[in-house]
Amino acid sequence: MASPLPNYAFFKGAIVPFSEAKISVMTHALNYGTGCFEGIRAYWNEDEGQLLIFRQRDHYERLLHSMHLLFMETPYSADDLCGITVELLRHEGYRQDTYIRPIAFKADEIIGVRLHGLHDELAIFAVPFGLYVENDEGAHATFSSWRRISDNSIPARGKITGAYVNSAFAKSEAVLNGYDEAIVLNENGHVSEGSAENFFIVRDGILITPPVTENILEGITRMTIIEFAREELGIETVERPIDRTECYLADEAFFVGTGVQVVAITHIDHRPVGAGHMGPIVRALRDLYFKVVRGQVAKYRHWCTPVYARVSAPAYQPAR
Ligand code: PMP
Repeated sequence: MASPLPNYAFFKGAIVPFSEAKISVMTHALNYGTGCFEGIRAYWNEDEGQLLIFRQRDHYERLLHSMHLLFMETPYSADDLCGITVELLRHEGYRQDTYIRPIAFKADEIIGVRLHGLHDELAIFAVPFGLYVENDEGAHATFSSWRRISDNSIPARGKITGAYVNSAFAKSEAVLNGYDEAIVLNENGHVSEGSAENFFIVRDGILITPPVTENILEGITRMTIIEFAREELGIETVERPIDRTECYLADEAFFVGTGVQVVAITHIDHRPVGAGHMGPIVRALRDLYFKVVRGQVAKYRHWCTPVYARVSAPAYQPAR
């Protein structure tokens, strides 16, 4: 399904009509994949009439890290980028769930593969957005025949545009073979992550997820879920390499990420995971996640940035 187009974009230092945010076919990043990006969600809270951006500062810090890996420079701090994003969303006036895409890229119109000595641009746009994986309460995943790129090839902890060709190979293979998502192994044969999401299993009441040294993106949702499990459910997460067949024997399994949110995996390669339906730990984590991102849990409200100025309460009228 085609995404609706935004009305505006932040482009070349200003918020402009979306139709003016254009790049040349000769752009370095288009030719060589020399860009990096983020995916941030904002959630509509109907009761408050408010749009809440989830953990945007963490996303912008990761964007600055990805840029650092690519020898990119920017005049903007993470706080500047947060402010620009709020301004952009106010221009759009969205009153529904939204996906925000900041992207930094090598903007030169030039032939020659390299990272250094080039000029960088940064753009941000935002579109209304719903589910990323349709079967989010009962996904069927498969092990990809593709391997995850290693840190020594293209750093997976950077969210680098060119690296997403690897994700696209894995995702298309899985979907064209009738599955919802791919689980991708690294060159060591251990689980890294999904095509564009981190991965957890539950075995004997403990959460297990690959450590950041297994060629994964250091996901913000991953950290959120580890914190929820520890703080709210009293469940520890062990970060260690995971073998393929451990996944077949897991009690529960799930993907997490800004796009996918929390997706229960109920089958892997035609084997039911646990009882073959969403398990209690995934359910509890999902329920909490959806409350927190909509700003409904006071303890985690500091992760939610309101977009619209608060409407002041009606003035107090003394009863006559
Ligand atoms: N891994 C990959 C490869 C991803 O593209 C994403 C989505 N950005 C994630 C994991 C999840 O990261 P996050 O929770 O920060 O969105």
